[in-house]
Amino acid sequence: MNDTYDVLIVGGGLVGASLAIALDGSGLSVALAEAAAPRVDLQPSYDERNLALARASLNALEALGVLDARSPATPIRRIHVSRRGDFGAVRLDHGELGLPAFGAVMPARELGNALLRRLDACTSLARLAPAQAIAIAIEAGADAVSVRLRLGDAEREVRARLLVGADGTESFVRSAFGIGAERHDYAQSAFVTTLTTERPLDGTAYERFTDSGPVALLPLGERRAGLVLSVPAEEAPRVASLDDEAFLAFVHERFGWRAGRFSRPGKRKPYPLARLLAERTTAPRTVLVGNAAQTVHPLGAQGFNLGLRDALTLAELLREAQAAATDPGAADLLARHVERRAGDRHATTSFSDDLVRLMGNDVLPLRLARSLGFHVLDRFPPLKRRFALRGMGWRGDVSTLGLMR
Ligand SMILES: Cc1cc2nc3c(=O)[nH]c(=O)nc-3n(C[C@H](O)[C@H](O)[C@H](O)COP(=O)(O)OP(=O)(O)OC[C@H]3O[C@@H](n4cnc5c(N)ncnc54)[C@H](O)[C@@H]3O)c2cc1C
Repeated sequence: MNDTYDVLIVGGGLVGASLAIALDGSGLSVALAEAAAPRVDLQPSYDERNLALARASLNALEALGVLDARSPATPIRRIHVSRRGDFGAVRLDHGELGLPAFGAVMPARELGNALLRRLDACTSLARLAPAQAIAIAIEAGADAVSVRLRLGDAEREVRARLLVGADGTESFVRSAFGIGAERHDYAQSAFVTTLTTERPLDGTAYERFTDSGPVALLPLGERRAGLVLSVPAEEAPRVASLDDEAFLAFVHERFGWRAGRFSRPGKRKPYPLARLLAERTTAPRTVLVGNAAQTVHPLGAQGFNLGLRDALTLAELLREAQAAATDPGAADLLARHVERRAGDRHATTSFSDDLVRLMGNDVLPLRLARSLGFHVLDRFPPLKRRFALRGMGWRGDVSTLGLMR
């Protein structure tokens, strides 16, 4: 069988699914090929990690009909950033800055469920799953790219005027085009779990840095919190084997007692942490988005927010191309996408990496500079506001859906 689409998205993770939804009703014929079966428990990134969603991401997901007022998202009203052993902390309060909230926290599994429900309601989307891309071919000057998909025991050839690689950090699309990537292994693992706090978090997201790695506590309701605890990779097997009591003692040692005593930890899952930056994000009739284009340390809670902005910008350009009856895979459209995403991509990947390096470094002058930085930022409202707005996803050339409300 040989099908031709305007757009073929390979990878139906958080970013690929969002892009497919953003293109629904655009008039473009779109196919979404996902290697896993379309069930929340089978897709690798629709798991127990808790996502801090920036305000711009929430706006867009609401405008796309993925989230609504009933969605289980806990607003982030306060942010508290500190480092063990340094003076001072940065405290951001939504009221002080005149903002309803900085964003919200949502388990990836819940966001995955919401995306799958919204995908079911798409009117003009061909969903191919489980369907794994296994070969890609394009001839010079051709009007489409050919992708071979494996669907169980069968194989199928699909042609598309534009191929979107939304297939995650180990992107097949990226390697099929021989696009190199700069990788850095942080030699850290992040343990993700939930726990109960003695004191209500009252919408506060905590980020605490320590010599042996950062720890984040995200509000998930009054007394339930999502924990992301990074440890040196060689320590991961020991932390994985701790019983609940010993694990909570370890978390207190790293995080302190700001939220009172911790109890009832959920299941723990470790993730190895690495950074990846594709050398380029386009190839003939092809573009990379989300983790396939760049993967960042989860510490700054930027990965999906950044990938969603890739998807929204691309959707905007494709809708414009459709309205103007121009080629969705044209080189100039891809060049405009690269240009519009460059500033945000560079700033966000550097921000996430700098944060890990700066906060992980224990050299005395750096510690002093950090304490001074905390002190200044905490007492200077215009700087705080700028810091907060960037964290809320208003970075670079923002798509219209992200700006809504
Ligand atoms: C512990 C942790 C905490 C995080 N916290 C945050 C946070 O608070 N905020 C935030 O914004 N981000 C966060 N992130 C980052 C976020 O999870 C990722 O940025 C996001 O999942 C990237 O989405 P994606 O769709 O690009 O890639 P993925 O989610 O990896 O999806 C890729 C999809 O492609 C499919 N696929 C792969 N190969 C093929 C193929 N050959 N053919 C077809 N399909 C294929 C896979 O099955 C998968 O479904 C966190 C990450 C981690 C690990």
